[in-house]
Amino acid sequence: MEYEPVIGLEVHTHLKTQTKAFCGCSTEFGAKPNTQVCPICLGFPGTLPVLNKKAFEFAIKVGLALNCKIQKHTKFDRKNYFYPDLPKDYQISQYDQPISSGGFLDIDVEGKPVRIGITRAHLEEDAGKLIHKDNVSLVDFNRTGIPLLEIVSEPDIHSPQEAYEYLSLLKSILEYLEVSDCDMEKGSLRCDANVSVRKKGETKLGTKTELKNMNSFKGVRDALDYEIKRQIEALENGEKIIQQTMAWDTKSLCTVPMRTKEEAKDYRYFPEPDLTAFVIESDLVEAIRKTIPELPKEKSARFIKEYGLSEYDAKVVTAFKKFADITEKRMNLYPGKDKKIVVNWSTGPLFQEANNLNCNPEDLNIPGGDEEFINLIKFVEEGKISNLTAKAVFSESISSGTPSSKIIQDKNLFQISDMGSLESTIDEVIRENKKSVDDFKQGKANALMFLVGQVMKKTKGKANPKVVPDMLKRRMDNA
Ligand SMILES: [Zn+2]
Repeated sequence: MEYEPVIGLEVHTHLKTQTKAFCGCSTEFGAKPNTQVCPICLGFPGTLPVLNKKAFEFAIKVGLALNCKIQKHTKFDRKNYFYPDLPKDYQISQYDQPISSGGFLDIDVEGKPVRIGITRAHLEEDAGKLIHKDNVSLVDFNRTGIPLLEIVSEPDIHSPQEAYEYLSLLKSILEYLEVSDCDMEKGSLRCDANVSVRKKGETKLGTKTELKNMNSFKGVRDALDYEIKRQIEALENGEKIIQQTMAWDTKSLCTVPMRTKEEAKDYRYFPEPDLTAFVIESDLVEAIRKTIPELPKEKSARFIKEYGLSEYDAKVVTAFKKFADITEKRMNLYPGKDKKIVVNWSTGPLFQEANNLNCNPEDLNIPGGDEEFINLIKFVEEGKISNLTAKAVFSESISSGTPSSKIIQDKNLFQISDMGSLESTIDEVIRENKKSVDDFKQGKANALMFLVGQVMKKTKGKANPKVVPDMLKRRMDNA
């Protein structure tokens, strides 16, 4: 029996505001526990929340970038639940009138376009953080009230790989918009998944489980993989899937039940009386629309068109905005027509060096700057140094802090390409290897390779291997 997984994703992202969603407390990460709190975010009686304008504008910006409709009327609601990290015993969220809804995101899965619907994106506040130590549980309220945008997808995702591509593109867009730092380690990007399976061809949804605690995109892919297999196996054995919340255990690499899943009615939503419903002015929406930069897919399409990059290269280069910008600057610095060579160097040797130093490729410090980087590529293209030498020079330059051109000069690494200085060496080789010359004249192609090798040896590898064979042939014809 063939089964089809049906997956919907909920992504929670911290919005990059200086202050919390409804009070003036700092949102900075890493401060001592409970130092960034006030009566409002601690939910003291009699306090009143005030909506953070920046968070509200960021939410609209994301909605627009995800092709959503921005609601004319929006409001906040109280989502009631009792949990030790929630000081008010409710979370200010949005229930039936989210800021934006009805959008989509087009992803590429193995070269095929797939459209994933976006159900809604709504604004809410984060809860605190529980710290379990030995036999006690502690709570840090610094995170309480940090603005969160919850982006909910339609159940349009049908494989763990699609989920992975969706999350990667979504993260990339949030970074381009500069609304979140998307750091999964700091918890500023979190993902839950609803997953069910059904027999192929069926339209009715199966019973779903919710997966939590996935702290990397790879984790999401692994957890989905595992959970889909578990559900199929259960159904094959005639068992029933129970609607419940599962956690992904990163140690044992399996999903484990946490609790049975709540329904919306369990939260007893009601309108937040301290924040009245309001109208989102279309002037504001249009002003925000103008601030949306070129997004990864548009940039990628432009790079293909303007610089002749392949789809794969364009996707790699545009995944991160800073890297895309710096690579474009370098492509423009390179005078040659074929800009792909700059991309090859950027995603090849440059990636590798950054990787070794554990830094982002856009932050790699190149001695002498972009000009030196481009010069090195030019030297290779002009045949002045070999590709292999250039890579070694680049690596040495990064580790020593010396500009690459200085290393090439100091070590005299330029290839010998000019006919004059090669001619005498070539004549010497022809004189000293009469047998090979005769072999070549009788049609033995291998003999030429041997002679090229002799020239390389005599020049200590500095002769340009692209010009040597032709020169050899010409001299032998005349000999
Ligand atoms: Zn506060």
